[in-house]
Amino acid sequence: MTRAVPDDQENLNLCNNGYVYIIGAGPGDPELLTIKAERVLGEADVILYDDLVSSELIERFHAKKIYTGKRKDNHHFEQDAINEEILYHARQGKRVARLKGGDPFIFGRGGEEIEVLRKNGIRYEIIPGITAAHGASAYGEIPLTMRKISSSVAFCTGHPVNKIEVPDADTLVYYMVASSVHDVLEAVVKKGWDDHTRVAIVQNATRYNQQIFTGTLGELREREKTVYSPALLILGATVNEFIKDNWYSKKKKILVVGDDERMYNSEEVTVVRFLTHRADGADRNIVEQCLKSIEEYSVLFFASRFSVTSFFRYLHEYGKDVRYLARNKIYTSCSAVSRELQNYGVIADLSLEAENSGGIERMLREKKVEQESILLPCSTVIDEYLVDALLSLQNKVKTLALYADMHHEQGDTIDLDFIDEIYFSSPTSVKIFKTCYHGIPENIRVTTANETTDTEYRKLFRDCVHTI
Ligand code: SAH
Repeated sequence: MTRAVPDDQENLNLCNNGYVYIIGAGPGDPELLTIKAERVLGEADVILYDDLVSSELIERFHAKKIYTGKRKDNHHFEQDAINEEILYHARQGKRVARLKGGDPFIFGRGGEEIEVLRKNGIRYEIIPGITAAHGASAYGEIPLTMRKISSSVAFCTGHPVNKIEVPDADTLVYYMVASSVHDVLEAVVKKGWDDHTRVAIVQNATRYNQQIFTGTLGELREREKTVYSPALLILGATVNEFIKDNWYSKKKKILVVGDDERMYNSEEVTVVRFLTHRADGADRNIVEQCLKSIEEYSVLFFASRFSVTSFFRYLHEYGKDVRYLARNKIYTSCSAVSRELQNYGVIADLSLEAENSGGIERMLREKKVEQESILLPCSTVIDEYLVDALLSLQNKVKTLALYADMHHEQGDTIDLDFIDEIYFSSPTSVKIFKTCYHGIPENIRVTTANETTDTEYRKLFRDCVHTI
């Protein structure tokens, strides 16, 4: 395990600048992150993240992101490679955020990683996370202790199956049970637990697709049930009848495709994000050239919030701030984008508020956005409606790709069986969604941001065969 980590004095001296944060990301719901972790991730240069960390959680941070998920077959080699990667970045003097599912010190190999850091003289700190047991307990309404019913709880593992332990505690929580539910139940019975003991299997705790299966120990031993990872098994008298009807299952799950500014009633709704862009994909040379010659443009036109955050990130990396844009007029497509600009100290000169493509052109004409030289920071997929509208009024338009549209092969795919409503925020969001899903089940309500988006949705999804 320590192949990549010589602990000689030379290394010790080299490593003094880097700093590693070992951070718990929580069990799945991206809001279950500590305030401290949020700050540190925002300041990090590199984020090394594991399988169980959702892309929704990390996408909002600008650091370089490196996926360090492990394949089961060569587990040990993979952990070595992770250690090596952490050391490499720390030795470059970077702030490294090592982000792990749940809590780093509960079945998270956090202990092994700090051992390596210690040996190599790299400074670090640890930020705890909400472990899966606590997530499942809260979102499944399963108290882990309860007066007069359970006064102790033990966290155990169902892997490897030949080492399943059954400690003396009132409530038992087993991690890593997806392929060993029956082995765990047999081990528990062998230890003398009663067949009437209540059991809950919590799959995808705290995520939109959380599912809970319950029964008695006896019933579950009889039943052949496929359990998908990640899942936990909880046993004990605090597992009650009402967990199936838990508070989290009652919330409507809305899938928001792209950005959305609407306020939801969080008592009734859980917002699930379908990310449509990633904070990379720009050609840095082109960006730099554009920034160098920014005075050539009479107008900077921002058509999405993401274009604002990406643009300012590159501007800051270029060593400039908002004063550098003093000679450019700044226009936006809507008030949400203008609000984003205010975070950077900019009040837009003009906000279009156009509802549809015809509207954009009309608004541009009305506001006399004509014969300008326009820089349009945008995604690698260009919004043709907007560019055409700008061109039709004798403007010169230079598009500047600052971020990439998401390709979901590597990202998390959303299981539409758990979704009640889908909201599309733009025509591009519909197009990207279509690359992942052929159809949308009829029971899902679909809403769109405006007429153009609705037209795109109709074109790509209505009247086609539903294959899901
Ligand atoms: N450090 C993590 C555990 C990592 S081990 C923590 O503190 O939660 C991986 C195991 O954690 C999975 O096999 C599963 O048993 C459990 N787990 C992680 N996230 C989970 C989730 N959202 N729902 C249910 N179980 C989860």
